[in-house]
Amino acid sequence: MLRVLREHGAMSRRQIALAVGLSRTTLSEITGSLLQRGAIVVVDTDAAKREGSGRPAERLALDPASGQFMGVDFGHRRVRLAVADASHEIVLSGSERYYDAPWPLRLELAFRLIDRLSAESGVHFGALQGIGIGVPGPYRATPGVLVMAPHETPHETPHDAAEDAAEDGTPEASVQAAFAKRFGAPVIVDNNTRLAALAEAVFGRSSVENLLYLRISDGVGGGLVVGGRLVTGSSGLAGELGHVTVAPDGLECRCGKRGCVETLASVPAILRTCRDRGLASPTSTAWPPRSGAATRSRTGRCGRRGRPSDGCWAPRR
Ligand SMILES: [Zn+2]
Repeated sequence: MLRVLREHGAMSRRQIALAVGLSRTTLSEITGSLLQRGAIVVVDTDAAKREGSGRPAERLALDPASGQFMGVDFGHRRVRLAVADASHEIVLSGSERYYDAPWPLRLELAFRLIDRLSAESGVHFGALQGIGIGVPGPYRATPGVLVMAPHETPHETPHDAAEDAAEDGTPEASVQAAFAKRFGAPVIVDNNTRLAALAEAVFGRSSVENLLYLRISDGVGGGLVVGGRLVTGSSGLAGELGHVTVAPDGLECRCGKRGCVETLASVPAILRTCRDRGLASPTSTAWPPRSGAATRSRTGRCGRRGRPSDGCWAPRR
């Protein structure tokens, strides 16, 4: 039951009973004992989300002060940080912009962000139990060291993980080692899109065992969850759909290869193709348009109505 609460945050007794497969009576005895000992607490009720007129159910969670979890997402343009307590409430969050900064600078900006947010909020990291770091792909995960399923605990001490990571020699490994050294907590590093796939499988609308996740953004990425575990593949690159070659003579990709899916199907690539084919809005002087630059609905070249900032193929819904 404690594991279920650690993985899912606050839950009603009914949800816990379903998740652990215990009878309500047995569960009631256990929760009563844990509440008495202070290991779990009542955080709120489900009144806000409840439909119908029944009595709101109490939601139980691990004592929020008993643990903290840090998530760090290094994107191409910014680093985002979130710290959650043991009840999965986010107690600290923020971001810092950069543009194509080298890894040492990204790391410095991340630590500076953490220091600033900590000073402003008074949140310190004495109960930190784990750190998850997302990095942009392509990123080669090392099965068994850097990736773990949500129901598992790290099988290496922070010290071991830091040493292994430092020996790896990649920029991402240096970041992992730096976080492990600074916070003395287990650090997991993986492609941020693969981690998003895992989060969707575990915390999505309904948690699922098997999931194929596809993300089309500045790049194209994906993640594969099978049997509740994030798949890394034999080469550690499972889910890197964006760097599959589809046009051998195509444009050069930022990974160094030519004609990757990403050079054709990422959002910037799609916009570039539209612009090359004359599909840009006739009123826009720059492409893609700045958000908020124009909001009046008008007819695009394709004949559909929409805001110029949407592009004529995406009319206002
Ligand atoms: Zn590529």
